[in-house]
Amino acid sequence: MARAASVLVEACLGGSLVRLTASKDRSKGSQREVARRWQTVAFAVVALSLLPGCVGIFAASGGVSLSWGTHSHGALLGAVALPVEGDGYQVHREWRARGRTFAIEELVGGLTRAFARVEHTAPGSVAYVGDLSLRRGGDSSMHRSHESGRDVDIFYYAVDGEGKPLPNPPAMIRFADDGAAVAWSSGKPGRRMRESLPDAHLDLRRTWALVASLLSDPIMEVQWIFIHQPITELLLQEAEREKADPALVARAREILHQPTDASPHDDHMHVRVFCPVHSRMFGCVDKGPRRWWKKRWKYMSPAS
Ligand SMILES: [Zn+2]
Repeated sequence: MARAASVLVEACLGGSLVRLTASKDRSKGSQREVARRWQTVAFAVVALSLLPGCVGIFAASGGVSLSWGTHSHGALLGAVALPVEGDGYQVHREWRARGRTFAIEELVGGLTRAFARVEHTAPGSVAYVGDLSLRRGGDSSMHRSHESGRDVDIFYYAVDGEGKPLPNPPAMIRFADDGAAVAWSSGKPGRRMRESLPDAHLDLRRTWALVASLLSDPIMEVQWIFIHQPITELLLQEAEREKADPALVARAREILHQPTDASPHDDHMHVRVFCPVHSRMFGCVDKGPRRWWKKRWKYMSPAS
């Protein structure tokens, strides 16, 4: 059974999932864990193989995406590419060539809806997008996560000294605790930026609008938005200034989070979504201590 599964998975995924499973087997593998993993893979493959052809199922248009494994050890099936430009956003030109514009369809849909909503409420908005995942997930040499199509990096919105959106920044910008731009963040060790840093500031209005849109999406469920803690405070103050829905602000207070094992997210926000239900059935694993929050929110009325 395992051999048959490996052949089918190899055919559908080009080997990324098999390699992942094999490497996990070598590094950790108690026999029970190995058997459990193969059972999951075999179940997924048999179920999917009943459908008409791997290529057909995993085609980007109208296909069903599956996130497999965890955010840091995973794979992606039936990936959907985020178009490099759309209403209110662009994949930043420096990031386009990296080939990491893929995700599950729920994330791609949620992002495009959120960017468009921000653009609608604050015309002239452009969110610059960094990495999502590789087409088949896995292999995240540049990140500790982004392996299973559920993670995305988004630049903070920035405004110039006159309060206008900062056009075409050549890189991410690092912001101080008071929201002032302090340095370029090139993303490549040793890379020196030729452009001088403009007089710029975190655009709290648009950045809060994006957070609010992501958390309010009717389909996508955000698990975390990783943000430098002082920036979270600025955003929550902005939300209160705007008299945002207190329930939404309370959710944001739980979901905006600076992980202790990552460098400060002072140059971008990192959004991670929960495993969709159908992905969870096929081996998608949410990590983190707060899954129960999701259940509570799921059954909260919008007004509560
Ligand atoms: Zn990231």
